[in-house]
Amino acid sequence: MLEKVVIANRGEIALRILRACKELGIKTVAVHSTVDRDLMHVRLADESVCIGPPSATQSYLNIPSLVSAMEVTDADAVHPGYGFLAENADFAEQVEKSGFIFIGPTAETIRMMGDKVSAIDVMRKAGVPTVPGSNGPIDDNNKRTLALAKEIGYPVIIKAAAGGGGRGMRVVHNEAALLKAIYVTQSEAKSFFGNGIVYLEKFLENPRHVEIQVIGDGQGNAIYLGDRDCSLQRRHQKVLEEAPAPGIPDAVREEVKNTCIKACKVMKYRGAGTLEFLYQDERFYFIEMNTRVQVEHPVTEMVTGIDIVREQLRIASGLPLSVAQENINLRGHSFECRINAEDPVTFLPCPGKIKLFHAPGGPGVRVDSHMYSGYTVPPYYDSLIAKLITYGETRAQALTRMQIALDELLIDGIRTNIPLHRELVRDAEFRKGGVNIHYLEHKLKS
Ligand code: ADP
Repeated sequence: MLEKVVIANRGEIALRILRACKELGIKTVAVHSTVDRDLMHVRLADESVCIGPPSATQSYLNIPSLVSAMEVTDADAVHPGYGFLAENADFAEQVEKSGFIFIGPTAETIRMMGDKVSAIDVMRKAGVPTVPGSNGPIDDNNKRTLALAKEIGYPVIIKAAAGGGGRGMRVVHNEAALLKAIYVTQSEAKSFFGNGIVYLEKFLENPRHVEIQVIGDGQGNAIYLGDRDCSLQRRHQKVLEEAPAPGIPDAVREEVKNTCIKACKVMKYRGAGTLEFLYQDERFYFIEMNTRVQVEHPVTEMVTGIDIVREQLRIASGLPLSVAQENINLRGHSFECRINAEDPVTFLPCPGKIKLFHAPGGPGVRVDSHMYSGYTVPPYYDSLIAKLITYGETRAQALTRMQIALDELLIDGIRTNIPLHRELVRDAEFRKGGVNIHYLEHKLKS
């Protein structure tokens, strides 16, 4: 087992990692910026190291500072959490070159999945269903590109191979606009990401976002932990998630499950990962893979009983997966509300001092949060301050528990999106299950 882990992150996920380390008897090192001295996990860690000023580029994204924190504390490994450097192949590489363990996939896997063209290629070869499209970079053979788009049918979407965070994409509705859109997306991609490669896909008009959780041991074994529906989004940011995704026929689910496991085995995937799909008309279409733990991992933990962060730590220690596929039983239903420090109407960030925090409780209620009364939310980072998670034997029970929990939750001093969540869990369409990725934005406009 690892002996000492540096937690290269902040907020709720840093605390989540710290708890998993403690449970396994692993010592922890919190690294933090100068404004983050009072974070809960910094207080609870065995050691802490200040790595720089508030600006993330000088602290949580500063690779040399992080590597020296590992050196001075004589740690064995680093857990990157999500965001920041979690999917940065150069970081993973430098960590390993310096003689430490990166808790996640190899740099090579991160790089391969970070490039959407190569990711789609790997998945297609394993039989994972992908979106009909160019299956590779668009070249300068305009005639062929126009013929391909015609065959697929408009609308199509042009996407940058190196794109991320919802940037580097352009929807094209007719043939007249295609070549110009390709040219513009290529130039933008080149200046944003330093890589002008773009590809073309069918644009799905009313899909749901359904993603699949996997864990691989890096030796060719992999398990499937079911799916999550994250269709409630605003500006490509997930707001409320659930597991399992409602209303998916068993046969459709079984087929995608088998192909995902196969892809992970072929790649000898190491650690936790998520295959993201668009789901429309009872079909799955792979769009990308996230090579890290996700914000919404708790809903999967609730329905499988498997601690995903603990598995990550075990795999990084060279241990096998703690559970075989045949022993994983998906049971019940779970929801997660992302509680953000933001105005519930304008969505503008709302940092400041939390005067009072009261967490809900009771059967099937979990709160993952670094908040405490008197804590000041700094303005420099993501506005996520808590994740409220509920479990129920049925979807209806999990949803009722979420309503009650949201009504009990009290955060005083700053504005939050709790009112939005209270409304969403009472929304008739959402309660039916299966709304698409446009539902929330349409609702907010009306
Ligand atoms: P990023 O890495 O920037 O998040 P993704 O490939 O995951 O990019 O796509 C982000 C979002 O863009 C998706 O969640 C979906 O809303 C939309 N999108 C991407 N590809 C398609 C497509 N082929 N059809 C419809 N919407 C798409």
